[in-house]
Amino acid sequence: MRNILFAISGPSGVGKGTLVKRILSENDNLALSISCTSRKPRRGEENGREYYFVSREEFQQRISENDFLEYDEHFGNYYGTPKSFVLEQLKDKSVILEIDVVGALHAKELMLGECRTVLIMVVPPDFDTLRSRLTGRSSETEEEMLTRMERVKYELSMQDKYDYIVVNDDLNEAKERLLNIIDQEIIREGDKI
Ligand code: 5GP
Repeated sequence: MRNILFAISGPSGVGKGTLVKRILSENDNLALSISCTSRKPRRGEENGREYYFVSREEFQQRISENDFLEYDEHFGNYYGTPKSFVLEQLKDKSVILEIDVVGALHAKELMLGECRTVLIMVVPPDFDTLRSRLTGRSSETEEEMLTRMERVKYELSMQDKYDYIVVNDDLNEAKERLLNIIDQEIIREGDKI
């Protein structure tokens, strides 16, 4: 298959959501896989846009029906990649997963033989910038914030498993870099045929 699965990871608050929205609006050959989660929507989030928000029971039901390419639990909530959507979209387009490090590595392993998976990590220019971005979000309690900061350290420590690291210092520059990586990878894949 010519199309590529791009797994875009990066710590919470690094701005990967904004970057992903921008690259999708500039490249029609990309489809975004919208994950399912049992976490409650944050203010401003909409069902079917950031995530499909479902109850824990519904999520567990869907696990038992083998509906997810991969799933995991973060901060007490389930998150999963809908399998049929990804496989269907890959017939026509390259697909973007916005996913954590463990999920990205897992998805890559599961898709071996189906398509190539390219791993891209978005990182902050420094740790303090990220901490202030996260505290500005105010949708989490202090305890949740500390857990998230621990998770940030873990995610950043996995950088050597990734094909590309993109520093999100300037949003436009980071977006251009991402679009270039995606274009180059798609051209490379096409050249193989
Ligand atoms: P948040 O609650 O901040 O939106 O996401 C929490 C974590 O869940 C993030 O690290 C995010 O990348 C991860 N996540 C989002 N969707 C998925 C998914 O489909 N599968 C897995 N394994 N992790 C996900």
